[in-house]
Amino acid sequence: MKMREFIVDYQATYETCSRCGKAYAGSQGLVSNPEITDAKFLASLHACVGNPEILLAIAFDDLTGASPVVSNLLVLRTGSGVQMCFVEPEETPWGDKNTLGKLLTRQEALASPLKEPYFRIADVIVDRLPHLHFFLHPYNL
Ligand SMILES: [Zn+2]
Repeated sequence: MKMREFIVDYQATYETCSRCGKAYAGSQGLVSNPEITDAKFLASLHACVGNPEILLAIAFDDLTGASPVVSNLLVLRTGSGVQMCFVEPEETPWGDKNTLGKLLTRQEALASPLKEPYFRIADVIVDRLPHLHFFLHPYNL
């Protein structure tokens, strides 16, 4: 499936980090596509200390029809490309104030049937939000 088949709508937000109390510029939006269910997301490019990091929260409706389930991902630029991993909710700027749905721990996200869709939607978000794309690929405009 091609990336361009995903439709990404988002808006900028201005939030206060739940970890360090500093303000940061974030985004919130929706990824829709014909294949898997729509996903709401939060995205941030923020540094509590040290270098900025991309953190995402992605919410899919639960497969049983219960409230949406939310995973949190850290996206890193590495020498060889981009790496993503699940993190705990409290490791994000929104922490447990995330209102998208039921928060998964890192272990729950790894064990979730939605594990692969979470990574695919994360790929789409960092590809389509220009400031995140530029952060990950600064020499590749
Ligand atoms: Zn912070």
